[in-house]
Amino acid sequence: MHGTNQMQGFANSLFTGFARQSGKVVMKKINVTIWNEFRHEKENDVVKALYPDGLHAQIAKMIGCDDFNITLAALDDPQHGLSDEVLNSTDVLIWWAHMAHWEVSDEIAEKVKQRVYMGMGLICLHSAHYSKVFQKVVGTTGNLLWGAEVKEVVWNINPTHPIAKDIPSHFVLDADEIYAEPFQLPEPDEIVFLGWYETGYLFRSGCCWRRGYGKVFYFQPGHETCPIYYNETVTKVISNAIRWAAPAEAGYKLQEGSPCIGGDFVPSEELDFFKK
Ligand code: ZN
Repeated sequence: MHGTNQMQGFANSLFTGFARQSGKVVMKKINVTIWNEFRHEKENDVVKALYPDGLHAQIAKMIGCDDFNITLAALDDPQHGLSDEVLNSTDVLIWWAHMAHWEVSDEIAEKVKQRVYMGMGLICLHSAHYSKVFQKVVGTTGNLLWGAEVKEVVWNINPTHPIAKDIPSHFVLDADEIYAEPFQLPEPDEIVFLGWYETGYLFRSGCCWRRGYGKVFYFQPGHETCPIYYNETVTKVISNAIRWAAPAEAGYKLQEGSPCIGGDFVPSEELDFFKK
């Protein structure tokens, strides 16, 4: 359970996509935290050569722009790099993990889920389909069929979706790990990409959900031994997903996650009840 103060902290730190300056509405920067397990890069020479500073640092380099304030965080950092201060100021959290999902503390995974419910965006990449945060937030195992590294064609099947902005009808990855159906997911609200592998397998590669006030995107490309996060189309999708998942401004006050009911439309004799 979270105390009132913490929940108010969540509410106060969200829905801040716009700010008023001298009467003009201006876009605020999006606070993006890129979380990486950061173990393969230390233990596997191929991955170390590909991502010497960690694949989270490479993603940061590719998506870096004036709109984003980027923070890096890793499993072995104190509190996994996700102190309340960091989490409460994160608008969109990106998650990459594979070999140590169970080392993520239940407490922090739960805090991430609560933050998503209160409006923080969550983008789970590749093997994060098995992460505690993904399973908790979407509510299923994320089981799938997987296999060798082969050529993949990623099809853009939802070209007017904000995550597909400026993405061509399809793009080719010379090699990525086969992730294939059946993918055990709750039915996505929207599917943006479908993956086809040269061996014939198919996969829902880009899926969207809403959970509470938050938006969630799962994106399949990103096996650690393939140079996927050097691909400009892949990282363009991630940038688009950040803008799509950033918290939107609520049209009314929230109080511990619930709409704050009150105002002229409530009969005055009922207001006393709501004031309690
Ligand atoms: Zn993989």
